[in-house]
Amino acid sequence: PLKSVIDIPTLLGEVVLLTESEALMKNCEIVLSLPEDSSMTVSIDTKQIKQVLLNIIKNAMEAIEEMDAEHRGMIDISAHSEGELVYITIRDNGNGMDQNLMNRLFDPFFTTKEKGTGLGLSVSYRIIKNHRGHISVDSTKGIGTVFEITLPMVDSKS
Ligand code: ADP
Ligand code: MG
Repeated sequence: PLKSVIDIPTLLGEVVLLTESEALMKNCEIVLSLPEDSSMTVSIDTKQIKQVLLNIIKNAMEAIEEMDAEHRGMIDISAHSEGELVYITIRDNGNGMDQNLMNRLFDPFFTTKEKGTGLGLSVSYRIIKNHRGHISVDSTKGIGTVFEITLPMVDSKS
């Protein structure tokens, strides 16, 4: 894969720029919270990781669309580092999922949408695994969903 060294805040800023206008049209606010002066440098295939983040944000917007029209959609994106890992969290207040659905959402072709492909999250899972990272989900039906991605940081000592 084509790896490049990039700072997670820079990457998240770019992804938010790409999704903001669509979010506004869907009565949905995207908030990016980042800790000040914390180093979060990773060596990644930028195009692939951006695709993962876009898949998750798109799903979040679609989950928010499932709520009633007055519902104020919120997508909170944050990142922090701990030890040798970067943690990226994407939280939405969309329709959420029950445990049964959560168990299957990384399966290829699993979708609950009329025009869904069910590929977004299975491809995302593969991409994160190929980067030696992890992706996990926690959700409550009717309340919302949180995705967490961890990626190994570039070792500044080596
Ligand atoms: P698709 O979006 O084409 O259905 P995905 O792989 O992106 O395929 O997602 C699989 C399924 O996981 C979705 O159909 C939906 O049921 C569920 N899902 C994913 N993200 C969310 C979310 N943020 N909130 C609620 N359900 C979600
Ligand atoms: Mg999707």
